[in-house]
Amino acid sequence: MTEAFVGLGSNIGEPATQLRRACNALTALPDTRLVAVSSFYESQPMGPSDQPPFLNACAHIETTIDPNELLTALLAIETTMGRVRKRHWGERCIDLDLLFCGDTSVESERLTLPHPGLYQRDFVLKPLAELLGNEYLMPNGLDIGTLLAGCSTHDLKLSSDQLCNGEIPGNPL
Ligand code: AMP
Repeated sequence: MTEAFVGLGSNIGEPATQLRRACNALTALPDTRLVAVSSFYESQPMGPSDQPPFLNACAHIETTIDPNELLTALLAIETTMGRVRKRHWGERCIDLDLLFCGDTSVESERLTLPHPGLYQRDFVLKPLAELLGNEYLMPNGLDIGTLLAGCSTHDLKLSSDQLCNGEIPGNPL
């Protein structure tokens, strides 16, 4: 069983609803258990500024699916949810990033693990800190608190939206 972490982001089509739908889809993955989902955080976009703010969260899953298949499954969820790729770092109804899978390291054309942006993005590290604690040592050996202190800010704000009091909502995709 591997402990894996997925970064979720959305800035169009009712982002909170999109994050909940994506979490639902994670619960439906075979041989996988959704352990926990962080709070939702509003963040300013990393790419073009003429787009709405993002809503971000992180999910902790336990899975026996290998990382390549997991990436395939995440991309399939994005497609099912209607993601259309318009411009780099542009608006999207859902973005699912495989952040890390235990201490697995991958460098291939389609998959990089840990995710290349993992250590620089406050909108990933802040929700991860909620799930793992600031002292948690990331795969690069640095703790989350130290990494967070070195990040540029995306003006994170804790959202009043969440995953329905910690329950996984019942509506399937
Ligand atoms: P984006 O939607 O902009 O996040 O980019 C998605 C593409 O990044 C996918 O087609 C993947 O093949 C590639 N990719 C490489 N490593 C990862 C990863 N750790 N998580 C998600 N996508 C990845």
